[in-house]
Amino acid sequence: MEKVKCLIIGSGPAGYAAAIYAARAGLSPVLYTGPQPGGQLMITNDVENYPGYPQGRMGPEMMDDFKAQAERFETDIRNEMIVKVDFTGPMHKAWSESGHEIHAPAVIIATGASAKWLGIPGEKEFENRGVSACAVCDGFFFRKQKVAIVGGGDTAAEESTYLAKICAEVHLLVRRDEMRASKIMQERVLNTPNLIVHWNTEASEVLGDDAGVTGVRIINNQTKECSVLDVTGFFVAIGHQPNTGVFKDWINLDETGYIQAVPGRTFTNIPGVFACGDAQDKIYRQAVTAAGTGCMAALDAERYLVEQGY
Ligand code: NDP
Repeated sequence: MEKVKCLIIGSGPAGYAAAIYAARAGLSPVLYTGPQPGGQLMITNDVENYPGYPQGRMGPEMMDDFKAQAERFETDIRNEMIVKVDFTGPMHKAWSESGHEIHAPAVIIATGASAKWLGIPGEKEFENRGVSACAVCDGFFFRKQKVAIVGGGDTAAEESTYLAKICAEVHLLVRRDEMRASKIMQERVLNTPNLIVHWNTEASEVLGDDAGVTGVRIINNQTKECSVLDVTGFFVAIGHQPNTGVFKDWINLDETGYIQAVPGRTFTNIPGVFACGDAQDKIYRQAVTAAGTGCMAALDAERYLVEQGY
């Protein structure tokens, strides 16, 4: 068993930002990366909207920078996953996949979220070559082009109207005859001239060649009519899954699994356990907002530790 002051779980922008702040505050943080070190940015191409990188930066390179900065202040980074926690007492316990037991009075959860995918042929093959789960990140690469986007919730509504400002034509594929999105968002979708809604429609295959996506095969699930949409971009916006399963017995989650932090703060229902990044944010989900809340979590953890006499 090992005792540390501050344990950080997760290694996206939130986890590394928390580590940089915690390390510089003398908390000697130990950070467990989880199964995808670097988080969602590792599966992104160019990141052009992170302030401070005027020429943009490849997602994986950006995460290398975050990691190097955390290491510069001697964050102890471990390429392992936390598979079990026990938040019963003031000394929080966690276990890694190799069975290592670690105790910490302050724990920062930065486990992020994962985009849900359809699982259709071509989707994985053309990921980052025309297939994306983030319109805000990748829409710009399809300016003046035709794209398709799948989903019927607020994310799909928001992302399709966002894409419509950049792209020549946007085809929104909704699997039912109505959208789940809020009324106001639906109105925005229906009032956008270059945004065409295909009701009762599902994507069955992403088509492409060496240069990337060339189209998507669609099927009307009522008439069973099949056709091909000629598009160069294919966006999936059917929701995200927060990576919070390991905490569900201890931390208050909402009905979709997101951590319910105190609004505007990083406190969870357990004193000494703080949440940041996409694991607690279903609205903004940007690298810069994740990093911002990571900083907040480290500051909250530091103050908590001082109050507790550490
Ligand atoms: P939701 O779970 O709300 O919606 C997912 C959508 O994807 C549904 O329309 C669903 O269809 C569809 N879908 C799911 N699986 C498939 C599939 N295999 N094939 C085709 N379609 C599929 O997720 P969102 O990400 O849209 O929103 C999550 C939460 O975040 C919501 O509470 C939302 O209100 C909130 N949010 C708020 C925003 C804001 O306020 N600005 C912006 C973005 C999100 P079906 O309806 O048939 O189940």
